[in-house]
Amino acid sequence: MFDVSERQAATRAWARAFADEEVAPRAAEMDRSERYDRALVDAMFSAGLMGMLVPEGHGGRGAGMLEYVTAVEELARADASTALVMSIHSSLVVALLTEFASDVIKDHTLRALADEAVGAFALTELDPECPTTADGDGDVFVVNGTKMYITNGPVADLIVVFTVTGEVESERGGKVVKRPETSAILVEADHAAGLTRANVTGRLGMRAAPVGRLEFRDVRVPAAHVVGTRGAGFKIAMKVLDAGRVAAAAMAVGIGQAALEAAKSRALSRVTGGRPIAKHQAIQFMIAEAATRLEAARALTYRAAQVVDAGEPFSEIAAQAKLFASETASFVASRSLQVHGGSGILAEPHPVERYFRDARVTEIIEGTSEIQKLVIAGNELRGQETSR
Ligand SMILES: Cc1cc2nc3c(=O)[nH]c(=O)nc-3n(C[C@H](O)[C@H](O)[C@H](O)COP(=O)(O)OP(=O)(O)OC[C@H]3O[C@@H](n4cnc5c(N)ncnc54)[C@H](O)[C@@H]3O)c2cc1C
Repeated sequence: MFDVSERQAATRAWARAFADEEVAPRAAEMDRSERYDRALVDAMFSAGLMGMLVPEGHGGRGAGMLEYVTAVEELARADASTALVMSIHSSLVVALLTEFASDVIKDHTLRALADEAVGAFALTELDPECPTTADGDGDVFVVNGTKMYITNGPVADLIVVFTVTGEVESERGGKVVKRPETSAILVEADHAAGLTRANVTGRLGMRAAPVGRLEFRDVRVPAAHVVGTRGAGFKIAMKVLDAGRVAAAAMAVGIGQAALEAAKSRALSRVTGGRPIAKHQAIQFMIAEAATRLEAARALTYRAAQVVDAGEPFSEIAAQAKLFASETASFVASRSLQVHGGSGILAEPHPVERYFRDARVTEIIEGTSEIQKLVIAGNELRGQETSR
């Protein structure tokens, strides 16, 4: 069904080798110390992982979605935090600039994003009732406000920040209603006096990814840094998030795969009453159910990636993949923890406790499960479900 090309198979082998050699050995320590490892990210740049979605003409790999999500899945199997750093950089920032930025901005940013510059996508507000604003002042916008939970935010070189740039009027039910005009603006961290950033530590999961708070106080940005057109910010964010959800689903599949492998290994090696616990039907059933749901999540994720690659509408299937894969990752990690018994709750020596925490986070990032359900129901009820 998925017609995995030689290139996709080679990509999986390449990403798995990188993940096994470079990422997995560091994962437990990075999680414990909540440490972002810039040297590891540099190795991901050198290997070409951070530039996977950058078009070849701008120095990247120009990968399709199916090829890209296999790499995200493999990284997440080794470490979800590392996969999160790569996927926000790629499927939200690189993809956004590739599709919507002017040629000038593309020339200025895409090669850097393939080679060394980390990207962040700043949508979530600290207080949605008091959103980040950008006031137009001739050739310059002045940005004020506070964004929260922004992956890569504390370390990023390039930040796409969603701001309210005014109000627009539209007609609904014969009445004129006002709504915020939202614009996406590219901020270069090195030229952003008034921007302060802090990592939000003490997180449940994905602790080694830099995820933080960005405070903009009269940050002046050239008006030419508006991405797409002024007022197009909301549409841009929704479109990019739709595709980003396929990568989030792949991340969940990768965590689930790691948790399943850990469960099988523990079931075969742990002996009670003279027999490996894998001999108990109760343990076998947990593994069977976890493996089955995981396979279904993977199939839905790859299908969503294929729909993206085919250029068909993918909003609904991406939300379905994200919803199902993230809840599956939590299920599989929970079953795996159960198979581990008491040792499952310890950070050492088994990694399943980390998988359990990381899996839970996938149900929140890039839109909660509730938001995915709104997207799916909206498409179904409007009769705009993805063609099958
Ligand atoms: C590790 C991590 C990384 C993240 N990275 C980024 C990033 O890079 N960029 C970024 O912009 N954001 C990022 N986020 C933020 C994330 O996308 C949001 O936390 C998430 O979308 C939920 O938004 P919120 O925190 O404002 O929760 P709220 O909107 O306050 O939601 C709280 C609860 O209410 C429910 N809810 C809210 N609105 C509705 C509704 N209309 N209908 C039904 N239920 C509703 C939610 O489902 C949830 O259960 C990250 C978050 C985490 C944890």
